[in-house]
Amino acid sequence: MKYCTKCGSEVSESDKFCSDCGQTTGQSSNDAAVKVEIVNTNTDKAIKAVGDSISIGKKVAKKHKEATVNFLESSLILVIATLGCFAIFAFVAFVF
Ligand SMILES: [Zn+2]
Repeated sequence: MKYCTKCGSEVSESDKFCSDCGQTTGQSSNDAAVKVEIVNTNTDKAIKAVGDSISIGKKVAKKHKEATVNFLESSLILVIATLGCFAIFAFVAFVF
C-alpha cells in the first residue's frame, strides 16, 4: 500500500491521484504520462473542433452551391418564360 506524499492518506497502487487531496501518487514518470495524456486530450479536442468547423464550412459551401443552382434554375425558367412570351407576341404579330 502506498501513501499520499501530500496528505498521507492511503492510496491504491493503481490510483493515479489521491482520492482525498488529488495529489498525484508519486512517480514522476506517471505524472509526466498524465500530463501527456491531458495534452493529447486537448489536442484531440482541438482537432475535433477544427474538424467540426471544416464540416460546418462544407455545409455552408454546399448550401451556397444549392442556392446558386436554384438561382440558375430560376434564371433559366425566367428566360424560357420571356422567350415563350416573345414567341406568342411574334406569333400574334405574324397572324394579324
Ligand atoms: Zn492526499
